[in-house]
Amino acid sequence: MTSPRDHLIDWLRDAHALEEQAKSLLQAQIDRLEQYPEALPRLQQHLQETEQQRSMIESCLQDLGADPSTLKDWTTKFMANMQGFGHMMASDEILKHALASHAFERFEAACYHSLIKAAEVAQEPRVAHMARDILAQEEAMADWVWENIPTLTEKFLHRSAANQDAKI
Ligand code: MG
Ligand code: FE
Repeated sequence: MTSPRDHLIDWLRDAHALEEQAKSLLQAQIDRLEQYPEALPRLQQHLQETEQQRSMIESCLQDLGADPSTLKDWTTKFMANMQGFGHMMASDEILKHALASHAFERFEAACYHSLIKAAEVAQEPRVAHMARDILAQEEAMADWVWENIPTLTEKFLHRSAANQDAKI
């Protein structure tokens, strides 16, 4: 028998690993961006949020008496499929990143959507509260990426047609 609390701890570790991955993906995007500086402030904001999310999860794990250093790497596999370094080879890297980022943020949102319920069932209101706060940030980021896909696509096409650097 595995208690809801045990699952909750397990899933918080998953979330912690996911945020590690989110952090390196955002940092890589920020570092590589050249022709689309208008995206930088929002990416940097979400990088900060992501760092806060990671430390909030760590403190929840501590409260629950779990060792946050026991990390997992299943998200690495997920991301390798989603948005692997293959995109760097693409001449439309910026667009490939945007599409994959949207999927990644929605995936994060789904994880916290589930965590909220798990925390309620395990009667850990502090964890539920944290997951609600993080969920709002992931949804806001996913919405921002979604809303910017048409503009980004248009800018990419115009630059590319004018023989300007458009890749990233
Ligand atoms: Mg996140
Ligand atoms: Fe996120």
